Amino acid sequence: MNAIDLARQPVLAAPATAKKLEKLGLRTRFDLVLHLPLRYEDETHLFRIADAPYGSSVLVEGEVIAAEVQFKPRRQLVVQIEDTSGTLVLRFIHFYPSQQRQLAKGKRVRALGEIRRGFHGDEMVHPKLREVEEGAPLAERLTPIYPTVNGLTQPVLRRMVQSELKAQSLADTLPEMVRQDLDLVPFADAVRLLHSPTPDYSAKTLTDPKLPAWQRLKFDELLAQQLSMRLAYRARRQGRAPQIVDQGELRGRLSASLPFALTGAQQRVVGEILQDLDKPHPMHRLLQGDVGSGKTIVSAMAALAAIEAGFQVALMAPTEILAEQHYIKLSAWLAPLGIEVAWLSGSLKKKQKTESLAAVADGRARLAVGTHALFQGDVVFQNLGLSIVDEQHRFGVGQRLALKDKGGEPHQLMMSATPIPRTLAMSFYADLDVSVIDELPPGRTPIVTKLVGSARRDEVVDYVRRTCAGGGQAYWVCPLIEESEALQLQTAVDTHQQLTEDLAPLSVGLVHGRMKSSEKAEVMGQFSGNELQVLVATTVIEVGVDVPNASLMVIEHAERMGLAQLHQLRGRVGRGSAKSVCVLLFETPLSELAKARLKVIYENTDGFEIARQDLQIRGPGEFLGARQSGLPMLRFANLEEDLELLEAARQLAPEMLKRWPSEAESHLARWLAGREQFLKA
Ligand code: ADP
Ligand code: MG
Repeated sequence: MNAIDLARQPVLAAPATAKKLEKLGLRTRFDLVLHLPLRYEDETHLFRIADAPYGSSVLVEGEVIAAEVQFKPRRQLVVQIEDTSGTLVLRFIHFYPSQQRQLAKGKRVRALGEIRRGFHGDEMVHPKLREVEEGAPLAERLTPIYPTVNGLTQPVLRRMVQSELKAQSLADTLPEMVRQDLDLVPFADAVRLLHSPTPDYSAKTLTDPKLPAWQRLKFDELLAQQLSMRLAYRARRQGRAPQIVDQGELRGRLSASLPFALTGAQQRVVGEILQDLDKPHPMHRLLQGDVGSGKTIVSAMAALAAIEAGFQVALMAPTEILAEQHYIKLSAWLAPLGIEVAWLSGSLKKKQKTESLAAVADGRARLAVGTHALFQGDVVFQNLGLSIVDEQHRFGVGQRLALKDKGGEPHQLMMSATPIPRTLAMSFYADLDVSVIDELPPGRTPIVTKLVGSARRDEVVDYVRRTCAGGGQAYWVCPLIEESEALQLQTAVDTHQQLTEDLAPLSVGLVHGRMKSSEKAEVMGQFSGNELQVLVATTVIEVGVDVPNASLMVIEHAERMGLAQLHQLRGRVGRGSAKSVCVLLFETPLSELAKARLKVIYENTDGFEIARQDLQIRGPGEFLGARQSGLPMLRFANLEEDLELLEAARQLAPEMLKRWPSEAESHLARWLAGREQFLKA
């Protein structure tokens, strides 16, 4: 059997043990090699009781001179041991009769634990114990402590790992010259050291991420990720997708009907998308552009290219409100061109739904807009050529997969206003092509942001009144109450009532997440039509809502919201030419952290810059809720700390696939055996 096949073999264990190993994510024999200790215990050195230091785990040996079960303050076993230097108390709150026997007077034991100054002198609570002969040899290596699950003891795990370290070749998957170039230690040395370190390493140095052994493992993990991303990218380029040759006729007609011209950035990204569509393999392109940068019209242009070439297009948005807005807007743009647009959402009445499904299935509807309902089993397209996902980061990787399965392999355009930080783009999103709209449409007056303490709420209400009296419109966003949706709803209802009184005779509307979508649409429609001057809303308006005449936004309890969310919300104003204002009301006193975050949003209008600073405050683990989205997270490497290793792995991956394909294959086999399905996203 060759080394790869050996590594991929299932663990050698009885079914019951295998089940426990499976819980730890250990399926293959090589997984055991990569199951690294959390920490270490030092049983290589014996301290005299009198000399043993406080504050860390130590090993001492002595003869039991007293052992008794005490009953005060609670039942416990108290044992005293003695060596030539002094005595020590061993205390057990939980104990078995067998331990009591092991600790009978006259026995010699070794105890490992931390010594503390107790009320009656020095003591160890619940030490690890072993009965020994005098002069028994000490351990030659530090004792690894592994992550484990109930019923799987450290000695059992340790034996299994050790036997795999012996049985497997652990040959390097990095070509020797590459390894030396990168100044990395050999793989075998790295894992042997970490599993059974010699005593010249302290338990502390062994957990230092800068230790060469850890650097090597981090690199290998990142390399496996990069290799699989490259392969996914390649596989996609070998997949088949309809080649869409754009004639430009429909696009030209839409352009002619718009009250504005596309910005240079919009034209450029439309060009990038059209080039992709013109290829016979599926596009996976991410369109990034700040809030208000005009992604919708870009997606419409892409859709028209596909429609003109005879294909259907699907456009999915994460919320009903947003999907509905897209539906309204795109219908208004496309209906005059004779293109039928279908609407599909979870809340459609049965009859309407059947009608929409039929239109999609028989090809009458050339564009289908909706929520995730679009990608459920009962939706069958006649010939889907392009699927577009708005606010892509709202969907998990799972949905990215579902899209792909529908109607073969359509091209995919994903849109997001949330910039992906560079390290994440380089790692988890490395298989996407990216287009960026880096310019806002002209004629926007920058939004003025004001930070106002909640004590001055009345002045803010007054300001809303004056703005609306002058023909403007305003959003009033109610606070996020994470603990209770009911409370959040109640707050919105109360605020609506209060503002209706305070602002009479202005009309104040209310929209929240618990309303039926038809009700929401009605209220939004009234607000768009300026029948309502003020719209009280929960954060449902966070994404994508577009009412250009609204030039004022008040956000209550801004300190409770995430920066990305605040930025998205604020982006709902400043869409027309009127001077726009966003008032962030905050509750005093502010914590230092809240102050720092509000300062970021106050000082910056660029979403990318805000995301960058937000990331500094929060760290990438939080980003995009990556942990929940099913992405295989890195076990050893850390995107913040290991940027250099990530860069090196990224550079090496394509070269390795080209020059050392069999090493690349072994590397992937070791690191990703059985996990490939995660990486096809
Ligand atoms: P987002 O990128 O946040 O999805 P939208 O597509 O909703 O932004 O566009 C925001 C607003 O800007 C819309 O009212 C849209 O019609 C308008 N818009 C888009 N492109 C331009 C342009 N080139 N010039 C003027 N206004 C534009
Ligand atoms: Mg949008």
